[in-house]
Amino acid sequence: MMRRWGGLIVLLVLAAGLWLARAPLGEALYGRIAATRAGRDALAGDGDGLTLIFCGTGTPLPDPDRAEACLAVKAGNTLLLIDAGDGGVRKLASWGVQLGGLDGVLLTHLHSDHVEGLAPALLLRWTGSAARTPLPLIGPPGTAQVAEGYNLMLAADAGYRTAHHGEAIAPTGGGRIAGRDAEPGVVWNRDGLVITAFAVNHAPVAPAWGYRIAYKGRVVVVSGDTAASPAVANAAKGADLLVHEALQPRLVAGITRGLEASGQPRTAQITRDILTYHTTPEQAASLAAEAGVGQLVLTHIAPPLPSRLFHAAFLGDAPQRFGGPILIASDGLRLFLPAGSRAVEDDHL
Ligand SMILES: [Zn+2]
Ligand SMILES: [Zn+2]
Repeated sequence: MMRRWGGLIVLLVLAAGLWLARAPLGEALYGRIAATRAGRDALAGDGDGLTLIFCGTGTPLPDPDRAEACLAVKAGNTLLLIDAGDGGVRKLASWGVQLGGLDGVLLTHLHSDHVEGLAPALLLRWTGSAARTPLPLIGPPGTAQVAEGYNLMLAADAGYRTAHHGEAIAPTGGGRIAGRDAEPGVVWNRDGLVITAFAVNHAPVAPAWGYRIAYKGRVVVVSGDTAASPAVANAAKGADLLVHEALQPRLVAGITRGLEASGQPRTAQITRDILTYHTTPEQAASLAAEAGVGQLVLTHIAPPLPSRLFHAAFLGDAPQRFGGPILIASDGLRLFLPAGSRAVEDDHL
């Protein structure tokens, strides 16, 4: 009996000691973790191939788990972003993706949820590599104007950072974006990576593009935002992966009813309007089957899915329409397509 009490007292004293020392213990622990994590390169171990990192798989609908549209593409030594919505770029950096090596950003279209994360992309590339040239931004007509808007908004910031950190770290000229209005066709062709833009149907948003990404025999097609479109199936013929946007109207209907019941008819109308220019998971699956792709990855997920419990309801009968694997992308999903192989490896950052 006495021994049991003695043991309990020792435990209590130990616990009290740990509690009293929580600040210095926390500081020491934080220092150890930070020293191993800060500056690490999450992509250093990838072999030659095509890597996709889903940095934002959400939409403008508020979603605590998903940043807005953002997809990082690494092929060999090239690192690009396709779209830069709010929150995605900072997530990438927090996972250890070194954005100093960012070669450019490609936009599918100019909706705010695809462009409003450009400021952190610009800043992290600039200071991460002491870039002396502006961040290349390529997209449909109107892209150069988006770049100029950013340059105007961030002119003061660029000056402050050069003044504070010096020319060796934040050189004049790197804190800007160079926008280029492109046309459908090949928009990137360097070091074996060929990216081709094709028009999709996101009316009234026009032009809006998807991208076909080819590197060393591996092919990924990204739909961008679009209603179900044969253009995507054509571009995706025989691709390893189709990354398609997806909205489930049966689940959005619940949000519409809630907004109407709470006296928000205008926002309710927006949730009806969005049905016209997006694709259901079932339609995406049919397009994947028509194109004969190896795998379908759904992104730009609407509405928010607070748990995996809702994945089956989101997919509906998509699994019956496409025989290959269907993934619902989440922020942090990494897919690796090794060169000279048919494999697709997946993990989570
Ligand atoms: Zn969007
Ligand atoms: Zn859009």
